Amino acid sequence: MSVTDCARFLAEDPGELVAASFACPWCLARVDDTVLEVGTHDSLAHCVCPSCSEDWDVALHAGQVMRLSLAPPPTLRIRFGRDGGRPVAA
Ligand SMILES: [Zn+2]
Repeated sequence: MSVTDCARFLAEDPGELVAASFACPWCLARVDDTVLEVGTHDSLAHCVCPSCSEDWDVALHAGQVMRLSLAPPPTLRIRFGRDGGRPVAA
């Protein structure tokens, strides 16, 4: 099942809060890795839970993408995907 959530952080929020926006919506596990697909209006971060293997998308606005690009949280690895590239569950 794939769902889309919206990121709930501000561009100036601390890294822990930014990283928390990417927690698994089912089991709240921390996600270490996300693939960011930057669009002209909204962008999507594709996430796969390392614990329960569920996947979901987090919708981001331009300010949030800028924050992730310039000052990503230290616990979250961000890759920039193309053409809907998704992370592969381990
Ligand atoms: Zn999970």
